[in-house]
Amino acid sequence: MAALTATATCTAFRAVAGATGELVPAWQLAERVGFLAVLTQELATAVVAARWNDGDLATLSFGVGPDGRTLPAKGWMALRRLGWAAAAPEGVHVSDRVRRAAEEVAARALRSAVHRRAVMHAILESWPADPWRRTDAESAALRKRLPQGMSTAEIRNRTRQLNAFRISHHGRLPAGLTELETAPRIPALVALAAADKQLVTIQRISPDTAMLRVRLPLTGRPTSPTQWAWHAIRLAVPEHVPADASLCVPTLRLVEGRVRVDLPWRLAVPSAPRAGHTVALGLDWGVNTLLTGTVGKLAVTPAGSRVVTDGRMLRFAATGVSAKLHRLRGHRQTIATRRDHHARLLDGLPENAPDRAALTAKHAVLEVQHERVCDRIRHLNHALAWAAARWAVDQASALGASVIYLEDLATLEARGRRTGNARLSGQVRGSVVAAVRHLAAKAGIATVTVPARGTSKHCPRCGKPLHHAPAPDRTRERGWRWAVCPGCGLAGDRDHAAAERIVARGLLAQSHVQTDPKTGQHATVTTVDGNVARARRPKRPTRGARRASHPPTMRRPAAAAKPGRHRPTLNQPSSQPSRRVPDRRAVPAPAPLVAGKRPAGQVPQTRHRLAVAGSGPARDLLPRLGPPRRGNRWGFHRQVTATPILRLGDFGPATTRPRPSGTPESFR
Ligand SMILES: [Zn+2]
Repeated sequence: MAALTATATCTAFRAVAGATGELVPAWQLAERVGFLAVLTQELATAVVAARWNDGDLATLSFGVGPDGRTLPAKGWMALRRLGWAAAAPEGVHVSDRVRRAAEEVAARALRSAVHRRAVMHAILESWPADPWRRTDAESAALRKRLPQGMSTAEIRNRTRQLNAFRISHHGRLPAGLTELETAPRIPALVALAAADKQLVTIQRISPDTAMLRVRLPLTGRPTSPTQWAWHAIRLAVPEHVPADASLCVPTLRLVEGRVRVDLPWRLAVPSAPRAGHTVALGLDWGVNTLLTGTVGKLAVTPAGSRVVTDGRMLRFAATGVSAKLHRLRGHRQTIATRRDHHARLLDGLPENAPDRAALTAKHAVLEVQHERVCDRIRHLNHALAWAAARWAVDQASALGASVIYLEDLATLEARGRRTGNARLSGQVRGSVVAAVRHLAAKAGIATVTVPARGTSKHCPRCGKPLHHAPAPDRTRERGWRWAVCPGCGLAGDRDHAAAERIVARGLLAQSHVQTDPKTGQHATVTTVDGNVARARRPKRPTRGARRASHPPTMRRPAAAAKPGRHRPTLNQPSSQPSRRVPDRRAVPAPAPLVAGKRPAGQVPQTRHRLAVAGSGPARDLLPRLGPPRRGNRWGFHRQVTATPILRLGDFGPATTRPRPSGTPESFR
């Protein structure tokens, strides 16, 4: 068994004060949670500010306490071992548990800084000759110094940060992280996980309700224990939290004046094996679509094991959402530029300048607008990632796949023209992987990453280098979307060909899968390529064949009375259909007509039509009703198209339909 952990977000509306039993309304509860959040923020900020020097960060990175023992995994315990405990402000009564919560937040910030420091030193030690471009040897040298599984994007961002420092400091590189960055800002949140039942308890009282009890301060500066009181908060547990999941102590924060409760939950799930799979779903991070998949089957034949696929392309296309995200990002950039411009103007303005009030108001408006656009982007990314992951895991279950193979994002290179919509999907990929891992674990399906290098370079059918063309009817030109094999004549969608190679890489290299001991994530470490054959799924027998399979005595008399009427033609060699899927396509496969699932209650709006006969009252109505309503409001589920999820039978070698035993000799 393996443990699946996730966080559900709920809202706390009101509470009952423990001692008196009085009802605490939402605004007052938010105020008291705010007091606690500000208190812990203050304590944690003091700890981080005191330790924001390279020596202390180095001490923390060694992971060994002053007594020679390894530091505990829990952040607050590690800080106490080092003697970096938080101290309560003068005259304020703060319990030990509250200080623990603050130390936990501080420890997270410091440990994150230790990670950034390690990356920075690795980059500085292998600083490239040309700071804007690394050679292959320099990249390899850097990878050796870095921790496993670092994404290319993170390395690039850190290098850019160092380059910006170098330019602003006349070619000098920073000596330590504390010179490159100022102390991180501590968020105002209460991480109750570090506390125990003297500060907080959580209990599930019914499948959809939980009771959270927490001690909150009654004022901003509580001076004695009497100014702290227990509050019982009834929480509605979201529907997607399974009834048998155990709840953990949450984190509290304030969002727009409401108490948001981030409630972690844990569920024991059957652990999916990393090897021994025969049916798999391979997914490619498409250039044309967000996800392109194919099912693969490991068939054992006398000549050895090989991978077969049914030739069906599974697509999750979200071009509309990507375009929307692209527009929103542009919008966010514009607002940020204007906001920064206003901030610079304010900086240069004297305190008593007459324009100051108007400028401050404008700056505040832009700040709010920026935050809202950020929220919108975040929500859209989240919705897209989870919709895509849900689709992928549903496809895997419907097709009987026990494993999902994905390209490893760490080794994924920026492919093709990264402009417009294709570039955007890159920002969602990390969330899609996390969501696929979560949903697949819930369904008992393994998720394994495979090396991404060169998946779309070679033909999945024969292994020769592919030629990429812009379209099926322009195969002589150089392009992107369409793959043509000069060796075997394969012609098909580029992403589909890549997905076939990915599923082959996964199924053939099952003995080379490694599991990260910390995260439990599986990754294929060796590239094993093999050719993929396509086989048709057997058709359902026709009525003629089904009738022929019955012994003659079982036939209905009427049918038997007409000689030659139901002579089956299927089994005759001349009309036997080929079991191979055609490899060569002259046009792209038609786009799936079925759209993604629409949320309940949202009916597509139809254009308002008014039949206007030559004259009469209807004509008079027309101006009052105004122009016909345009019924195309933007909606997430209208912008996503995906291959429908179908349960299909088995396919490939050894699944050929057996000849019916009762077939007369003449039909064989
Ligand atoms: Zn080929």
